[in-house]
Amino acid sequence: MSDLEAKVSAGWNRLASTLVQGGRADVRESGTLVNLPVTRGSTVLFPSLEAMNRMDGRSHSHKAVYGAMGTPVQHELEKLLSLIEGGTHTQVVNSGLSACTTPLLAFLGQGDHLLLPDSVYGPTRRFADTMLKRMGISTTYYAPMATRAEIEGLTRAETRIILAESPGSHTFEVQDVPMLADVAHQADALLFLDNTWGIGVFQPFEHGVDVSIQALTKYPGGHSDVIIGSITVNDETHWKTLRDASIQLGQCASPDDCWLTLRGLRTMGVRLTHQSRSALEIAQWLKTRPEVARVLHPALQDCPGHEFWKRDFTGACGLFGVELQPDISVEAAERMIDGLSMFGIGASWGGYESLVLPTTGHVRRVTEAGVPKAATFRLHIGLESVDDLKADLARGLDGLRQADQ
Ligand SMILES: *Cc1c(COP(=O)(O)O)cnc(C)c1O
Repeated sequence: MSDLEAKVSAGWNRLASTLVQGGRADVRESGTLVNLPVTRGSTVLFPSLEAMNRMDGRSHSHKAVYGAMGTPVQHELEKLLSLIEGGTHTQVVNSGLSACTTPLLAFLGQGDHLLLPDSVYGPTRRFADTMLKRMGISTTYYAPMATRAEIEGLTRAETRIILAESPGSHTFEVQDVPMLADVAHQADALLFLDNTWGIGVFQPFEHGVDVSIQALTKYPGGHSDVIIGSITVNDETHWKTLRDASIQLGQCASPDDCWLTLRGLRTMGVRLTHQSRSALEIAQWLKTRPEVARVLHPALQDCPGHEFWKRDFTGACGLFGVELQPDISVEAAERMIDGLSMFGIGASWGGYESLVLPTTGHVRRVTEAGVPKAATFRLHIGLESVDDLKADLARGLDGLRQADQ
């Protein structure tokens, strides 16, 4: 195994025991099932009014007075996520997008200012541009590769949150998270991180993050059959703010979806060990192809911010980008994508199956620098045989220049 192959999968190995044994009964507990059963419910019954009144309806603990506060399987899932992210408390919510919007609503108020990277997940951008704007919260976009001085230049007295997404899920810039955390804290602001790509192999709180966001829909669910998200913090004050807002907004997740996600997490280590190595092998092979200009995989030198990946990450996942040579037309690239037979065409990623999505011409507000003008697409590498996936891509790439003639 090459050093790089070892590095992309090292973090998954480190996490393996936690994924199997965290968030469930002790292995020596007598008479319990290995897995918690799904418990569905709204009403919680009490023996007396006095007993009911003793329970705090806004409880920051997980004591349930109503199903909306979460069911046992949701709380087990939350415990396991806190372990994976290295935080103290996790709130599970009904989608990855809710995991982005809920903490923004929890921590921002009228007149506040937010910094978003230009590479941010599209629906988070739309939320800031529409709902937050209507609430009197302003947003400035920054280049994902901006220097400390540039970020400092954009912060104002009203700046409450800097959000990072590393790497960007379409353009793959790996961000200097410790630097962003430092700038945020100097300005009395918080650093939020959408850590969906880095789950398990980027420890947010070790690098100064205050609020870590996950689309659990991706690798934790792992089978393209749930929509779910989580928000993790490592501070009691932040937890109270987040928990209060989550309850006020009615945030919780279906017990069945929590159960499926917990089941998915049990095998995430082996899936990702395999998928990270397959993805690296395919990324390295793509780099040798004459039709390919750059492979935007954080573990490879071509990727903006590769040095931060090397410094801060203990692994990689199976999602990366490909930029074709400038003489290849967008139409030819689209025909190639249509012609692939092993890769599904569709949004999302993180399941057991391979996917492809065109990413040409991503929306930008600030710098266009570093954003390819040429045709680009994103690959998610699943659990299929690497040889089959390569053969499919080779057929597609072989046809590209013929298609243009
Ligand atoms: C998918 C995704 C989300 C949203 O997750 P959903 O569960 O689909 O709502 C948020 N952030 C990133 C980076 C994502 O990839």
